[in-house]
Amino acid sequence: MDFITDLLNGDFMPHGHCLLWRTDLLILHVGGDVLTFIAYMLIPLALVRLVRARDDLHFNSIFLLFAGFIFFCGATHLLGIINVWHGYYYIHGIVKSLTGVISILTAIMLWYLLPQAISIPSKRSMQITIAELVQAERKLAEANQHLEAEVKKRTAQLEKMATTDDLTGLCNRRETMRLLELEIARAARQHTALSIMMLDLDHFKAINDNYGHQAGDVTLKSAAESFALLLRKTDFIGRIGGEEFLIILPDTAIDNASALAERIRQALQLQSTENPSIPACTVSIGVAQCRPDDSLHDLIQRADESLYQAKSKGRNCVSQAPN
Ligand code: GH3
Ligand code: MG
Ligand code: MG
Repeated sequence: MDFITDLLNGDFMPHGHCLLWRTDLLILHVGGDVLTFIAYMLIPLALVRLVRARDDLHFNSIFLLFAGFIFFCGATHLLGIINVWHGYYYIHGIVKSLTGVISILTAIMLWYLLPQAISIPSKRSMQITIAELVQAERKLAEANQHLEAEVKKRTAQLEKMATTDDLTGLCNRRETMRLLELEIARAARQHTALSIMMLDLDHFKAINDNYGHQAGDVTLKSAAESFALLLRKTDFIGRIGGEEFLIILPDTAIDNASALAERIRQALQLQSTENPSIPACTVSIGVAQCRPDDSLHDLIQRADESLYQAKSKGRNCVSQAPN
């Protein structure tokens, strides 16, 4: 009871006596304390608001300790003002002691957290790291693009290698047969004419024997070029054997195919006479038109038979299979 009475006893000599009740001194001290008190109440409110609004912030506890420490400082200033007129020195002492305790706790916590706070990367170093990451990512994307382009290029090369004949640049046997299969199906579906030509260079072995294998290759290449020159964009030509070629003529009836075969035969003969640097060479051609129920094998066989006839007739000529 005595303690409570002492605590609430404001009869001690008020501070006003120390200031001799001079108005200027009173205004200076009380004014300074009032301003400090207001500020010391607003700062904790701001800190609490910050902690509540930003739950991602580290070190919440130190912010709250700061808020408490500043609040108690504000309370001592408030009591400083009251004590100008009333002497509540027990309450003032208790508030000062509490301020001391919370100040010590804040200081301990601050020193404890200091290494962690120092190790937090600065905004500048974060910006540098982000810039480095962005650059690394850009380089990676560039490398990926380059790799993708390279894979596309290689895939296209592989596709070309898988479907093209190295020496002449024409379709190879597998690709030619694939295309013929498609064209047979298309002709059957659309009820359109489809003809093919089987071409075989005459006495080619003799060319190799007389001029050498390399000259034989040059002859093969130039014969292939001369055949391709006379075809439409929608026709296909492939090398299906050593010196054997197959030409696919969509939307073409056998008479037109035979006429074209004759032009092809003549063009090769003419090229041979006009270009003496390449060994002279002729071609025998068998022509056949696809029948409605022909399989790939049937059609090839009839073209092959008419080629055999062209060879039998003395070579350098065109033979047409019966329709
Ligand atoms: P035919 O008039 O009866 O067709 O007689 P041919 O000599 O043309 O026929 P044969 O089948 O006896 O010989 C074909 C020759 O074609 C033999 C082979 O060495 C040659 N040959 C096949 N492929 C190539 C090639 O890629 N380059 C060269 N230089 N010659 C080839
Ligand atoms: Mg042959
Ligand atoms: Mg031959």
